[in-house]
Amino acid sequence: MPIVGHEAGGAVTERTSADTRLPTDQQVVITIDGPAGTGKSTVARLLARRLGLDFLDTGAMYRAAAAITLDHGIDPADSESVVAKLVSADLHFDWTTDPPAMLAWLEPVDDRIREPDVTDLVSVIAANPEVRSHLVRKQRIIAEQHPRLVTEGRDQGSVVFPNAAVKFYLDAIPEVRAARRAAQLREAGHEVDEAALVERIRERDRLDSTRSVGPLIIPEGATIIDTSSMSLDRVVDVLCRASRDTVLS
Ligand code: C5P
Repeated sequence: MPIVGHEAGGAVTERTSADTRLPTDQQVVITIDGPAGTGKSTVARLLARRLGLDFLDTGAMYRAAAAITLDHGIDPADSESVVAKLVSADLHFDWTTDPPAMLAWLEPVDDRIREPDVTDLVSVIAANPEVRSHLVRKQRIIAEQHPRLVTEGRDQGSVVFPNAAVKFYLDAIPEVRAARRAAQLREAGHEVDEAALVERIRERDRLDSTRSVGPLIIPEGATIIDTSSMSLDRVVDVLCRASRDTVLS
C-alpha cells in the first residue's frame, strides 16, 4: 500500500479544472475514506471539481439521520422508528448546488447537520445496521445516477464500492484533526474547547472503528495519505495526479 508523505501547511485554493478533467465518456468511482478532521470533504469536493466528477458527502447523510432522530424526539435505539422517519424525509441531494445540498422533506438541512449535538450523536446512529443498510442502498442508487463520482465517508472503498477504480484513505494525528475541526467550528461562529474536541474526536474514531457493520478500516487497495503536515491544496494535487494516472493508464 503506497503511503504519501509530508508537506508544509497552507491554505486551500480553488483551481480551474479544465486541464485535469477526466474524459466525459469515462465512468469512474473514486472513494476517499478516513477518520474525522482529515479534510476529506474539502479534498473530495475539490478533487471532484478538478476531475470533472460529482461529489458525494456520505457523512451528510448520517448527520441528517442523527438530526432527524434528535429533532423528532426518536429513541436512537429504536431502529424501526428511525428508519421509518428517514424514509418519510426522502433524504436526497440537490445536485444543482456546489456542494450538493442535503435535503430532508425537500428542505436544506446543511446548517443543522453540522451543529454540535448532531456531531455528538452521529456515530451512535451510524452504528445502527438498519440505518446503514438504508443509507448504503441510497448511496449505490446515487452512484448509478452519477456514475462519475468522488465519494467520501468511512466505508466507501470497503463496503459500498469495493470495486471502485481508485481508493484513498486519508489520515492525520488526532491533534491536527482537532485543530482543523476547531478552525471550522470557529468559522461557523461556535466556541471551541480544543482539548475536549480532541477527546470527542478520539471517541468518534473509537465508535466508528469498532462497530460491527461498515467500520472505519483501510480499504483493500487504498492509497494511504498522511495529511498531518500537508496543506489541503497539496493533498488535492496528490490525489488528482494519482487518480489520473490510474484511470488513464
Ligand atoms: O464525515 P463526517 O464527520 O461528516 O461524518 C459524520 C459521521 O457519520 C462519522 O463520524 C461516522 O459516524 C458517520 N459516517 C459513517 N459512514 C460514512 C460516513 C459517515 O458511519 N460513510
